[in-house]
Amino acid sequence: MKYIGAHVSTAGGVENAPINANKIGAKAFALFTKNQRQWSAKPFTEKNIQEFKANCEKYAYGPEQILPHDSYLINLGHPDPLALEKSRAAFLDEMQRCEQLGLNRLNFHPGSHLKKVSVAECLATIAESINISLNETNGVCAVIENTAGQGSNLGFTFEQIAEIIHQVEDKERVGVCIDTCHAFTAGYDISSAEDFQKVFDDFERIIGFNYLKGMHLNDSKKELSTRVDRHEVIGKGFIGLDAFKYLMNDSRFDGIPMVLETPNSDNWAEEISLLYSLVK
Ligand SMILES: [Zn+2]
Ligand SMILES: [Zn+2]
Repeated sequence: MKYIGAHVSTAGGVENAPINANKIGAKAFALFTKNQRQWSAKPFTEKNIQEFKANCEKYAYGPEQILPHDSYLINLGHPDPLALEKSRAAFLDEMQRCEQLGLNRLNFHPGSHLKKVSVAECLATIAESINISLNETNGVCAVIENTAGQGSNLGFTFEQIAEIIHQVEDKERVGVCIDTCHAFTAGYDISSAEDFQKVFDDFERIIGFNYLKGMHLNDSKKELSTRVDRHEVIGKGFIGLDAFKYLMNDSRFDGIPMVLETPNSDNWAEEISLLYSLVK
């Protein structure tokens, strides 16, 4: 079973996310549990939490269909100790917000070295940040998203992600989310059947499908290996529709939230039905 959806709005309260997902025919959704461009957020009220849970139940969304995304400000590999401290505190807060909502995964971009430390040092800092947050929470898996490798962002190769996982103590609570646009512009060509097979064979060998806890389904406005992160509507970019056909017919992607982060939210209902129409 494929759970396809989109990153929906929480305007008016987190409890509105499942309502917005249901409106577009989504079987999965992503959300920000707080404003993604601010450091601080008001704690959830009991009403937020109860209504979120009630709406998820009403529209039949289980935790395996929901993929929260953390704030863009957080850098778990920050080279500056004070800034790192701030990021770790914010990340812990986000993990706790997921716990409160009864969710079991939090998707985040691993971090950036800002050209101040080596790649290896930064990956170790990221792993340590994950270990700290896992020690202070229960039941929420830290889901590392692959990046396009723009600027000094790490996590753009399967090897870098595998190295972070290797240094995480609780392997049961670390996972991976593959963003198709990021993978493509980082150099993973998934546009032909043969290349798609090769990329995900590499994924299995280097990371392992047992760690795959979510997918971001996006086409790309930029060419292969450009290391630029610009999402495009499914089938309208350089990846093309075929890649999504392979994905929709591959059982290794069953049972995890797969969400659109494509540019035009008015188009999501249509893109979701397009994706389901690709199933043979
Ligand atoms: Zn992301
Ligand atoms: Zn993404």
